[in-house]
Amino acid sequence: MSLRKPGFPARGAMPATAKAQSNVHREWMRLPADLAPVPMAVRETLGVETVDFTSARLRMVQRLAASGIEHTRVLKAMNSVLRHQFVDSALAVQAYQDTSLPIGLGQTISKPSIVARMCELLAQSAAAQSGLGRVLEIGTGCGYQAAVLSLVAKEVYTIERLRALHEKARVNLRPLRLANVHLILGDGMLGFASGAPYAGIISAAGGEELPQAWCDQLAEGGRLVAPILGAGGQQVLLVVDRTADGFQRTVLEHVHFVPLKSGLG
Ligand code: SAH
Repeated sequence: MSLRKPGFPARGAMPATAKAQSNVHREWMRLPADLAPVPMAVRETLGVETVDFTSARLRMVQRLAASGIEHTRVLKAMNSVLRHQFVDSALAVQAYQDTSLPIGLGQTISKPSIVARMCELLAQSAAAQSGLGRVLEIGTGCGYQAAVLSLVAKEVYTIERLRALHEKARVNLRPLRLANVHLILGDGMLGFASGAPYAGIISAAGGEELPQAWCDQLAEGGRLVAPILGAGGQQVLLVVDRTADGFQRTVLEHVHFVPLKSGLG
């Protein structure tokens, strides 16, 4: 009894289609070696490295300028900090799109347009006319905005309540050797009295009310920029200028920031 399945082609009697496939295979085998598939690990590396981050970043800066950001130092800083190195490698290709991205523990790196907007607001304050002095950032996150600020301000104190993110920022910033950035683990709702008074205070997290400590730690002529719950229950960007006469509040556009929380996480 034959074990051969019905219709199974006998050796030497290959049908035309199979012959064609076999030729394709042989053609492929004759291709120059440099077109052959590379091992997976190398291919993955190439997948990321072949993205032209430099051009993508420059296009991002051009979009920021077109949307109204005009402070040269801010635009330069946005072009100098490699945002793709602050996010997970799987998200690196999206790093220069105008979008916030997850950085772990339910937190996000703010989108480039809001980072540029807030840095510019600080750089345009009365106190910053001869250059922006000491700045306090609440919510270090992955450290991206602190790196941008380090190129815009003389000194940056940045405080984070989540230890894992505080450490992540340290790792991200270490190779940049930014001597004017000071990372602090703590509750930013209390500000950071040791560095006060500040020419600028910037918050990357939004609360219901402005913590009193922030106003207390603001220098005269200094400016605070923070998201806060607006009258309609939506977050708005708030600017507070400290003058000789007191505090002047200006409400700007709607924004979407992660919540400001008290205590260490
Ligand atoms: N500037 C950051 C954005 C991080 S998102 C970046 O460039 O990546 C906001 C951060 O604020 C989160 O990491 C969150 O943990 C932190 N945060 C919220 N409340 C805080 C508080 N009271 N003190 C310090 N950090 C706080």
